[in-house]
Amino acid sequence: MKILIVNAGSSSLKYQLIDMQDESTLAKGLVERIGMGTKGHHECKIDGKKVVDWNEAPIENHVQACQMMLSALTDKDFGVVKSMDEIGAVGHRVLHGGSKFSASVVIDDAVEAAIEENIPLGPLHNPANLQGIRACRAVMPGTPMVAVFDTAFHQTMPPKAYMYGVPYEYYEKLHVRRYGFHGTSHRFVSKRTAEFLGKNPEDLRIITCHLGNGSSLCAVDKGKCVDTSMGITPLEGVLMGTRSGSMDPAVVEYICNNEGLTVSEMLNICNKKSGLLGISGVSNDMRDVDDAATKGNPRAQLARDMLVYGIRKYIGSYAAAMNGVDAIVFTAGIGENNYKLREDVMQGFEFMGAKIDVEKNKALAWPNVHEAVVSADDSKVKILVIPTNEEIAIARDTLELVSK
Ligand code: AMP
Repeated sequence: MKILIVNAGSSSLKYQLIDMQDESTLAKGLVERIGMGTKGHHECKIDGKKVVDWNEAPIENHVQACQMMLSALTDKDFGVVKSMDEIGAVGHRVLHGGSKFSASVVIDDAVEAAIEENIPLGPLHNPANLQGIRACRAVMPGTPMVAVFDTAFHQTMPPKAYMYGVPYEYYEKLHVRRYGFHGTSHRFVSKRTAEFLGKNPEDLRIITCHLGNGSSLCAVDKGKCVDTSMGITPLEGVLMGTRSGSMDPAVVEYICNNEGLTVSEMLNICNKKSGLLGISGVSNDMRDVDDAATKGNPRAQLARDMLVYGIRKYIGSYAAAMNGVDAIVFTAGIGENNYKLREDVMQGFEFMGAKIDVEKNKALAWPNVHEAVVSADDSKVKILVIPTNEEIAIARDTLELVSK
């Protein structure tokens, strides 16, 4: 079966068509600047070659974006399917499933309504995800669709891990609690770690470190999430590309009062202008921050140190939460590609039985990135690099659900 993966943003639509026979990517594309009134943009790559590189008229809405996606996929010259009917199902990435969804589901009107109900928890992403779902259902009415939630894997957390210490009524009335994100990645990577080590997930305590532009860590005990660093929104946790990560919430009021900002203006700063970018003043991209730090920029060095220190603190606390750890796994843009950061994060963890093999770890320097154990042979705790693949995880869930 061929499965289309869709990740809709407020003004963009990313897609990938996967052949489930061998899980190969048949086509990959991006429609951008939807509904912005300016020139739209659509690019589509097949076999790594750009077959569409279009930059002309405005794109009105997500329905038009879906139609553009389908006409690229079915194009008579370069298309990868003869007709839309060859697409067996669509898997949608959805940010927030709230407490309602602990697994992926086939989309029907009730699921759409539940995603809509969760808009207050995911005000930026859920409306966009819904637009993508509605547009696809409109242009592919007979095709089954599945929603895969970023929050679902974390639904196994116990209340002591997901509750915030504010009055209980806010949990009851407003569903204020930790939800966690990147769940599809943490699930994929932790499962793959067990397979790679030839172990049963039931016998493993794993800490997965998804470190990218957005970063989160997850404690996975016996295959289930027991804690994660992101919270009610993706703002909590370690320092990220542009997000502040955890801090005393009184910082928000203090800055608002002194700078004449509203809470939402300040939260926008915490989400978009903080983190590596805000501290270094250089960039949100770790490569630029690393370059600047190497050249002696003290703020870039500080941003890097804060990230490394934050990751180390979570690793320590999750080892405590699980009464130990068997594997620490690095994934996503920084986790997979930045061997030096992995080396720095794992410095001095011998007290916990985790010893990195500096040479093995360095041998994985970009572009030689692949699944590997990078801990020393005598390390009790395995340290691994496992590249994440959220699209494959979404495609597998979709296939499983539509085959039932
Ligand atoms: P992601 O959000 O997973 O795409 O990750 C983005 C982050 O990964 C950025 O901070 C990049 O600097 C980092 N990254 C991506 N590719 C590389 C690379 N080849 N070497 C070092 N860092 C990289």
